[in-house]
Amino acid sequence: MTDTVRTTCPYCGVGCGVLATPDGKGGATIAGDPDHPANYGRLCVKGSALGETLSMEGRLLHPEIGGRQASWAQALDSVSESIRTAIAEHGPNSVAFYLSGQLLTEDYYVPNKLMKGFIGSNNLDTNSRLCMASSVAGHRRAFGSDTVPGCYEDIELADLVILTGSNLAWCHPVLHQRLEAARATRNIKVIVIDPRRTASCVGTDLHLALTPGSDVTLFNGLLADLDRRGLIDREAVEDYADGVAETVAAAKRAAPDVQTTAKLCGLAPGDVAQFFELVAQHEKVVTLYSQGVNQSTSGSDKVNAIINVHLATGRIGRPGMGPFSLTGQPNAMGGREVGALANQLAAHMDYGDAGALDRVRRFWKAPSLATGAGPKAVQLFERVARGEIRVLWIMATNPAVSLPRSDAIRQALEACPLVIVSDAMRWSDTVEHAYIRLPALAWGEKDGTVTNSERRISRQRSFLPQPGEARPDWWIVSEVARRLGFGDEFAYDGPAAIFREHAALSGFENDGSRDFDLSGLATVPDQAYDALAPVQWPVTAAAPEGTKRFFADRRFFTSDHRAKLVPLAARKVAHPVDRDYPITLLTGRERDHWHTLNRTGKSARLTLRAPEPVVAVNPADAQRLHLDDGGLVKLQSRWGGMIARLRVTDDQNPGTAFAPMHWNDHFSAYARVNALAHPAVDPLSGQPEFKSIPVRLVPIKRDWEAVLLMRSRPVGIDAPYWAIASGAEHWRVFAAGDGTPEQALDQLSTLLPTGNSLSFRDPVGKRFRSAVIADGALAAWLDIRPPSMQLDTDWVGALFAKDRLSPEERRALLVGRAGAVTVDDGPIVCACHHVGRSKICRAIAKDSLADVRAIGVALGAGTGCGSCIPELRSLLAETTKVEVAA
Ligand code: SF4
Repeated sequence: MTDTVRTTCPYCGVGCGVLATPDGKGGATIAGDPDHPANYGRLCVKGSALGETLSMEGRLLHPEIGGRQASWAQALDSVSESIRTAIAEHGPNSVAFYLSGQLLTEDYYVPNKLMKGFIGSNNLDTNSRLCMASSVAGHRRAFGSDTVPGCYEDIELADLVILTGSNLAWCHPVLHQRLEAARATRNIKVIVIDPRRTASCVGTDLHLALTPGSDVTLFNGLLADLDRRGLIDREAVEDYADGVAETVAAAKRAAPDVQTTAKLCGLAPGDVAQFFELVAQHEKVVTLYSQGVNQSTSGSDKVNAIINVHLATGRIGRPGMGPFSLTGQPNAMGGREVGALANQLAAHMDYGDAGALDRVRRFWKAPSLATGAGPKAVQLFERVARGEIRVLWIMATNPAVSLPRSDAIRQALEACPLVIVSDAMRWSDTVEHAYIRLPALAWGEKDGTVTNSERRISRQRSFLPQPGEARPDWWIVSEVARRLGFGDEFAYDGPAAIFREHAALSGFENDGSRDFDLSGLATVPDQAYDALAPVQWPVTAAAPEGTKRFFADRRFFTSDHRAKLVPLAARKVAHPVDRDYPITLLTGRERDHWHTLNRTGKSARLTLRAPEPVVAVNPADAQRLHLDDGGLVKLQSRWGGMIARLRVTDDQNPGTAFAPMHWNDHFSAYARVNALAHPAVDPLSGQPEFKSIPVRLVPIKRDWEAVLLMRSRPVGIDAPYWAIASGAEHWRVFAAGDGTPEQALDQLSTLLPTGNSLSFRDPVGKRFRSAVIADGALAAWLDIRPPSMQLDTDWVGALFAKDRLSPEERRALLVGRAGAVTVDDGPIVCACHHVGRSKICRAIAKDSLADVRAIGVALGAGTGCGSCIPELRSLLAETTKVEVAA
């Protein structure tokens, strides 16, 4: 063991502090940092499993050109020469960068400066466009700046918390834990506004399962209601904001009363009335919102509808109040700060401001500053498809999976003369399409800063050696800049130097006119940067310890320092459902997965809770469409298709479906949900719509299903449906196909390793089974069966931990039943303590467990990170119901 290092979790925008203690063998033990103000020692299941994701499996460790290993000198020369040639022959707009909220702020700053100041193009956008661009647009419309007004403490200080478009329990679990901990000490009401019943709804006061996309109408209805009650002090609001009268009038036109609002939102009038009443009764209201608001063709309007309510009632800038955008990625905020969105310049300065252009040009000594906003992500890839962009450099993101119409994105990448990627991973659908591959450092190896959702800058520190030839992203881009002739301007000797320049730019000619100001850190020495404690910007001479809240002084960052309320009406849905595509598909996250699985996909405890792509539908739709729970279903939109396992649940409203975003071609045959998404975007923010995709669902009948467990990851799985998940010391493949089971056996047996083979054949029952034993231990197990049969395989997975199988275990493998080997615990609920659903339900019924605490005492479930507590509560309710009914 070596020294413990304080760092920051690389997953969601909560930005939890992590203590990492390397084991000297490439791994590390992970714990929550008790001193970090985002989490005070807590971690969710993803954070606590970080130590299980550090292996070198799937890593890109050497530069490659055209699929062949190259030296760094060859790769960097090749990149810079290609950029130089493209500029000479086609102009600077033939080059583009596509960046990522996974990058550290320092790694983000350098390509933004190179592209906008030195190459002279605005062709630079980021995957944060898919995550929170609508919040940026809404903030700027209301405040004149991209400012998150509050802090996490406000969630605990509020009397009413509204979660809208946010499954906080799964997507920002530690904030959910903080909210639940505060609720245990005092009465904080919680309202969830979400078309789905999610884990965040458990134990709340009201759930409004509104029609997808009707949020603007609901918040218009709320604003109109508050005005009718006399809770909008127009005179006071007019002191600091414009547009109050027009906005309230527009709200009254759009949603004049409870009945109309309820009808337009697909809600019960009583529920809408209760929502209005609760907001009216409580002054301390925080509205938390996330991707359910942002990822919409009316995302910016939804954000402003929320902010309108807070501005009109003065519930902003004070403890326990405010609109609060929760970012999805660990450094979406850092990307916004450096200006790495196509419509931003740098350090929260805009292209539309001539003074800002001049200021940035002088600061950077930029020879050819881009002078206008560039194409946002979807438009940028349209330019790639049209051949206008000839050199595309993608850093730390996977657009071949994550952008809407991902099939078309793949075609664009194929057609692009040169795709360069910088990535830590070789396993990535996008990396497959690149001609030049540059190995970047991963979490644990890189060094810099990230900013979380409450504007808190934290250090990500390296605690592992740099593997292979992987290098920091800032170094890779700076080396290319040097080769392009800009060595002096990119002569950084480490991330501290970049951070100082970034901080200095934020304070350059600022004088309080811009919200983002790190001038207090512009001269921070290397040692102090290394030791930097988490701090909320702005950090200035007047506020050296940072700043908790904005707007207490009612001074905003518009030219007249007044906030703007925005009159709103509901926008027409870009692509409504119709007869051919009658179901509205919403996409989102699984609790234990992250983005495109190349990190969480390595951890058995994160993976086995949801090992296959699923689509959830309401029982009424399942019956009408002849879809079987647990069967396979094809989802088809006008733009693409996918296959997933069906889950029938009351949590889903009739007429809607939900599918997670994570699966890609490295983990499944055909399950990229964003292939189905349409290209329409929010007109202001350019953010695509991932919450309202018209689809049809068709059952898929297959002749056989199979499960294959193998110690090493199988390659070349040949089946129309397959999904792969990592288990403890093995990989697990789920497959289905057509033809006879004998043909399936021939097909899948080619994947098996060599060793002693035990085989079972039942041609009549169409069951075939094979176990491969090598040196007395289990090397692989294959089971082929008719599609209707359910199969538990966790007990087989557990046998991979054994050095030598007993005769009884060998028999169980052949028979295909756990028998005395183990008892079926069902799908994992508590990933920390590996406790399954069946085991929990049995204990609740048998031992009359009455609450989550009792489950924790009996089984340990819920006593780790706490992410499963909402599910435990649901199981308590369900199991009790069964008992009562019995
Ligand atoms: Fe990481 Fe979980 Fe904290 Fe998010 S809530 S930063 S995923 S530990």
